[in-house]
Amino acid sequence: MIQSFDEPPRAGASPDGLPPLREVIASLGLSAKKSLGQNFILDLNLTRKIARTAGDLTGRTVVEVGPGPGGLTRALLLEGAKRVIAVERDQRCLPALQQIAERYPGRLQVHLGDALEADWPALLGSDFGPGRALIIANLPYSVATLLLIGWLETEPWPPWYARMVLMFQREVAERIVAQPGTKPYGRLAVISQWRTRARIVMSLKPEAFTPPPKVSSAVVELIPREHPEPPCSAKVLGEVTAAAFGQRRKMLRTSLKSLTAMPELLLKDAGLAPELRGEQLSVEDFGRLAMILERARRS
Ligand code: SAM
Repeated sequence: MIQSFDEPPRAGASPDGLPPLREVIASLGLSAKKSLGQNFILDLNLTRKIARTAGDLTGRTVVEVGPGPGGLTRALLLEGAKRVIAVERDQRCLPALQQIAERYPGRLQVHLGDALEADWPALLGSDFGPGRALIIANLPYSVATLLLIGWLETEPWPPWYARMVLMFQREVAERIVAQPGTKPYGRLAVISQWRTRARIVMSLKPEAFTPPPKVSSAVVELIPREHPEPPCSAKVLGEVTAAAFGQRRKMLRTSLKSLTAMPELLLKDAGLAPELRGEQLSVEDFGRLAMILERARRS
């Protein structure tokens, strides 16, 4: 039953007057599916804390992937989001989300489907435009990296979102923010840091989730850079990092052979020693290599 807005929340109820998530899950018989990465956060204080790391949500449009029974969704709405557009794959979650939509008329739009196939600007409709929306999600870990890469490779740039606040397994979060010369530094760090300012803003132990996953988790904030530097093409940058990190232990004069017949010349033009390995290059070095390669292909 949904409580009316005017009534004070009953004892034991959540601040939004809706039943506690544990009750919602039990009443729907929502057993967590491992294949869908269902590790729910049932503590509304925690989901509100995550929501607040994205800043003041008042009047903002938020895109959420995988609302599940709605723990984070409820937090986003409680924190003032004007509109939440959520894409969920599991139709068993729809009754819980419907209840939230009724509690917040006109503010929650739920789409049943695979977020990997979503056309975000189309879902945003008239709210579409650089910097209008926020992406806030406790991502299903099996598709988290793919979703992130899709958002980072968005064209045109600057993108349709102003900020992303995303939960990843800790190991992926560390790959996003990794610095050159470290083990987790690779393609994901380069594309993330070239296009955004990325930092870990919260760490969570497995016990924060129901059921607890096997790994620790972390929330990463990514704020798009208006003008990523150097101004290379995202596609060519992707080709360069794929070549350099595909053969991680090889020197660049060897690993870049798949891109050009003359890797030593490319490296010389970029001011880089041919003996370097990909993991030793900064994001800026990769961008410069991509620009020189683009120029060479055009001439
Ligand atoms: N937001 C909820 C929370 O914080 O408690 C649930 C998060 S749970 C980690 C991930 C959610 O993503 C699940 O509800 C799952 O059904 C959903 N999901 C999994 N794969 C998906 C996909 N490809 N597209 C959309 N949702 C997906």
